[in-house]
Amino acid sequence: MTKDLSFYVKKFSKLRVDRAHGSVAPHKPILLLSVIELLQQGEIQQNQIFLSAELISTFLKYWTHLGSDIHRSDIALPFYHLTGDGFWHLSPNPGFESTIAAKVKLKSLTALRNAVNYAFLDDDLFNLLYDSESRSYLITAIVQEWFSEWEREFQTLYQVDAFQEFQLRLFEKGGETYSVEDLADEAKTVVRDAAFRKIVVSLYGQRCAFCRLRIISLDSQNIVDGAHIKPFSEFRDDRFDNGLALCKNHHWAFDRGWFGINEDYRIIIPHDRFTEESPQDTRSMKDFDGELINLPTQATHYPRLESLDWHRQRWNIA
Ligand SMILES: [Zn+2]
Repeated sequence: MTKDLSFYVKKFSKLRVDRAHGSVAPHKPILLLSVIELLQQGEIQQNQIFLSAELISTFLKYWTHLGSDIHRSDIALPFYHLTGDGFWHLSPNPGFESTIAAKVKLKSLTALRNAVNYAFLDDDLFNLLYDSESRSYLITAIVQEWFSEWEREFQTLYQVDAFQEFQLRLFEKGGETYSVEDLADEAKTVVRDAAFRKIVVSLYGQRCAFCRLRIISLDSQNIVDGAHIKPFSEFRDDRFDNGLALCKNHHWAFDRGWFGINEDYRIIIPHDRFTEESPQDTRSMKDFDGELINLPTQATHYPRLESLDWHRQRWNIA
């Protein structure tokens, strides 16, 4: 059978969904709509679908409107079970090839993210979704079959960039501190974490606060991390003034107390932690002692003195 547009229109209308609870589980069509939206936005550019904060927040956006009350809004379910429909495949992470091949059920989002690198579609389907005309046929097929009562409102919903909106709301609040209960939902935690990191990095102009390095790949991967000054695992403090943009090396070094930052935002290098040998023409870490860090444009986003003080005390940096 040729896998053309009508083949996939039929596939999308006949998704193998769970009907056990007397109503259709809408997870699969919602996940497909989310993937298609990110593809149109340019967020997905290759046939590799990651369980990213963008995908999760888009899925949750649709779930809020199109989801059902009797099912859990768990993106891990369709991300795994769509493999049963023949056009959705999983690419395992190294070491998980046999887990995926043996179709071991991965129940939680964390387990799935550990085992699966990304999902990918049949190449024919990916190409059809890349083309705007066939894409709109496939969207219509999903909406008409699974969400016919939403046909009129769908376009408006489709245009909302959920992850962007979430970041805007968080930004206006200056970040947030969470309770343990807040973190029970794995999917929301992935979204919050990604939003915190993205905003912190952008406040520092994508540059490392220590060495000012700025490297961004063509697909927007960043060598600079949004780091926590007081560790998130202990304090759950995602306020932006508990953040610092640091490159991988200096993030690692900061988390081990190889340097601190004083109340004037200057770097302090304790002299009893490490030895170093830098290649010619590159600055050694110790050379940064006393230097002002790269700060955000607005003083309200500067790292909080209380957090910096906590970090110096924690690592015994005078
Ligand atoms: Zn750096």
